[in-house]
Amino acid sequence: MANQEEAFKKVVSHAKEYGYIFPSSEIYDGLAAVYDYGQLGVELKNNIKQYWWKSMVQYHENIVGIDSAIFMHPSIWKASGHVDAFNDPLIDNKDSKKRYRADVLIEDHIAKIEDKIKKEVEKAQKRFGDAFNREQFVSTNPRVLEHQAKIDEITRRYSECMNANDLAGLRQLIIDLEIACPISGTRNWTEVRQFNLMFATKMGSVSEGSDTIYLRPETAQGIFVNFLNVQKSGRMKVPFGIAQIGKAFRNEIVARQFIFRMREFEQMEMQFFVRPGEELKWFEYWKAERLKWHLSMGIPAEKYRYHDHEKLAHYANAATDIEFEFPFGFKELEGIHSRTDFDLTRHSEFSGKKLQYFDSELNENYTPYVIETSIGVDRTFLAVFSHALKEETLEDGSVRSVLGLPAVLAPYKAAVLPLVKKDGLPEKAREIFDMLKFDFMLQYDEKDAIGRRYRRQDAIGTPYCITVDNDTLSDNSVTVRERDTMSQERIPIENLKTYLHQHIQPISVQ
Ligand code: ATP
Repeated sequence: MANQEEAFKKVVSHAKEYGYIFPSSEIYDGLAAVYDYGQLGVELKNNIKQYWWKSMVQYHENIVGIDSAIFMHPSIWKASGHVDAFNDPLIDNKDSKKRYRADVLIEDHIAKIEDKIKKEVEKAQKRFGDAFNREQFVSTNPRVLEHQAKIDEITRRYSECMNANDLAGLRQLIIDLEIACPISGTRNWTEVRQFNLMFATKMGSVSEGSDTIYLRPETAQGIFVNFLNVQKSGRMKVPFGIAQIGKAFRNEIVARQFIFRMREFEQMEMQFFVRPGEELKWFEYWKAERLKWHLSMGIPAEKYRYHDHEKLAHYANAATDIEFEFPFGFKELEGIHSRTDFDLTRHSEFSGKKLQYFDSELNENYTPYVIETSIGVDRTFLAVFSHALKEETLEDGSVRSVLGLPAVLAPYKAAVLPLVKKDGLPEKAREIFDMLKFDFMLQYDEKDAIGRRYRRQDAIGTPYCITVDNDTLSDNSVTVRERDTMSQERIPIENLKTYLHQHIQPISVQ
């Protein structure tokens, strides 16, 4: 745990030190759970967005993108259910005055018991070695069974309370489980209250009368209300998808995990419209497809897992999360939901406009069903960044920080470095820089000894360093150093462009 916390602190401080992420309004002591992306952060973030956009919109002829406004007609949030049901149950500890999500307190408690089971399994695995049969062990070991029975009982009570919106029951469960506040250590809890997560603001000047509108809490609704516009103007045929990247806002109760849970964040969502009855087939398709996308970034498969939902939102008939192992454990990175015809039907009811599709093959009108894939840009950033950050001890005993970002996502693809700041080397280096800059995002650096410059590029994740030395002037070749292996190769300048194109792999999702 202490190690995890240390690792996470390093991620946060590295992100700040190298211009990836700054706390918002820092000179005014910050604004809780709001962050700014710095000069390198914006590049990584844009590359992530482009990587997703290409895999969705460019690689699928039946998916198109839109960019809808953040402000939308207030009735949209009535229709979608957000005004009435986009709530989190909150509870305060009276001694520490800290606020928690009641559901998260209970889920964390369950996770602790799960951890105990995991430890029992690990212990047994060590004892029995190759002969260990995990399934048999977890289904017969009395201690594991006791823990599992506790989990099942808590989950049963928890689901009952959540489904029945029984806030007193949730509080009672917290009391019965003897959950204490991590800050004060006491169990002196307030009642549980529902808290709506939408930010409201006013549109129009007060004298003209004003209307409450909301900052959108998800980008999906902008897609649903444009369903007909896109379908008709783009002559789209079911099945087809609409993708969107954009800001979303949620007044999160507990936002303490850096960019994992922010009040202003960005989503990449795609709504895929299908024939009624075919939705579960497409759900399985997108579930597999989305995991492939994550794996295409080169992060090992064991860092990801599916978490199928047992308790489904009112609009869904199947749902799963792709969870990632962040420095603070496995948590949701992306949601894949089979949203049925809920949204289009509700918007038809509330707007009075028929949101249907005429399927010429079936000669039939219907309301399409929807599979949604919804992923946070910032959480993807955190996943990629935290996984990439490593400290390596080198042969000479020195330590280097390396940000092993996939080359396709790295802010700078290469740094151009004259070995020394004289003898015509800077001029030659600038020539190379100018030759490559239209194809690649590059950095030019001539300050400090070459070793320190390499370290700095390692720390910001630049996959290649191109060094110009005295021989370059005569042989027209440069030394290319690779970030992860630190191996060096001599390359003719005229081959550099091809070399970089080949090594900075284009996106491959299949
Ligand atoms: P959580 O259970 O963690 O609050 P959620 O289930 O409410 O997430 P969704 O409504 O499914 O999240 O949103 C889709 C995606 O948007 C999430 O998988 C996540 O990547 C991202 N996301 C949601 N809330 C936030 C937030 N407050 N900050 C950053 N990203 C977020």
